[in-house]
Amino acid sequence: MKSKINLVTGGAGFLGSHLIDKLMIKGEDVLCLDNYFTGSKKNVSKWINHPNFELIRHDVTEPILLEVDRIWHLACPASPVAYQFNPVKTAKTSFLGTYNMLGLANRVGARILLASTSEVYGDPQVHPQPESYRGCVNTIGERSCYDEGKRIAETLCFDYKRMHKTDIKVIRIFNTYGPRMHPQDGRVISNFIVKALLGSPLNVYGDGSQTRSFCYVDDLIDGMMGMMDSNHPGPINIGNPNEFTIKSLAEIIREMINPSLDIIFKPLPNDDPIQRQPLIELAKKELKWEPSIELREGLIKTISWFRDELNIK
Ligand code: NAD
Ligand code: UDP
Repeated sequence: MKSKINLVTGGAGFLGSHLIDKLMIKGEDVLCLDNYFTGSKKNVSKWINHPNFELIRHDVTEPILLEVDRIWHLACPASPVAYQFNPVKTAKTSFLGTYNMLGLANRVGARILLASTSEVYGDPQVHPQPESYRGCVNTIGERSCYDEGKRIAETLCFDYKRMHKTDIKVIRIFNTYGPRMHPQDGRVISNFIVKALLGSPLNVYGDGSQTRSFCYVDDLIDGMMGMMDSNHPGPINIGNPNEFTIKSLAEIIREMINPSLDIIFKPLPNDDPIQRQPLIELAKKELKWEPSIELREGLIKTISWFRDELNIK
């Protein structure tokens, strides 16, 4: 049987490169498309020169015509530091990028999966968050370029489905961590690990009582692949429901790397969500998926990767 041709936008990033590893190991053909804003060729370097793999430097805000069977649409900076660097570009990436990829899917009859986010729930007033919750998002805040960008991206997917019968899949990804997060990415787990390995104090924003629920990357990619193969269009939450305060996360990482470090409290960024935890009943039912890697187990693997990456013994 002819193998499927997969287009992975944002393929040189954190999640995209792990997805590509799994697709390549399955023997499928992969086109990795990226503009290298937050991603790096190094993340996919082991596949360069493999006959099933091609790299395309391209910005999804511009149209592109390719013959593909499946589009995994991940291109978009995900860390608040990165997406707030050029917020207008972030909004364009979500809107125009998704519009272009839906247009491509429609033209060539490809199935398309959108990597949406728990950020569509904003600062949620319902806890934990089911897919039916419509969210509490500030339309004019510093996070809006990303949150509202992903919301319109979801809207476009469902309008393409209604208008053109485009075969869409939408997942809402909750905070995910693991090897290949960029050391300067700015997200909390990479920040804490890098600081602790360098012997610096850990900076907790606010009083650290805000919560997040952290999913290890391997679990996340399994859920994403399950969604692509499913009959459900989504949106479906993919995340690990185990919820931690940011202060307790800092304490866990400190204890695992260097218990003598200080924890310093800094101002909370604007619109920082107070709590976040996925309800994953739909993923369990429709995808037969649930995460299996506990936080400490995932942190051991992640810390070990950062030690090698930063060359710290
Ligand atoms: P990442 O920043 O590591 O990867 C994003 C990739 O997209 C990078 O390689 C970047 O260079 C590329 N990119 C950005 N703008 C582009 C553009 N205009 N054209 C082409 N390529 C572009 O982030 P990630 O954590 O791998 O996230 C991947 C996707 O998953 C994103 O869409 C993000 O919104 C979504 N997501 C991630 C998380 C998480 O916790 N990691 C949570 C929710 C949603
Ligand atoms: N955070 C922190 N210290 C850091 C980086 C982040 O205390 O060095 C906090 C941040 O304010 C937020 C939480 O950790 O409350 C998760 O931040 P992240 O940027 O990883 O993800 P998001 O806010 O997008 O869920």
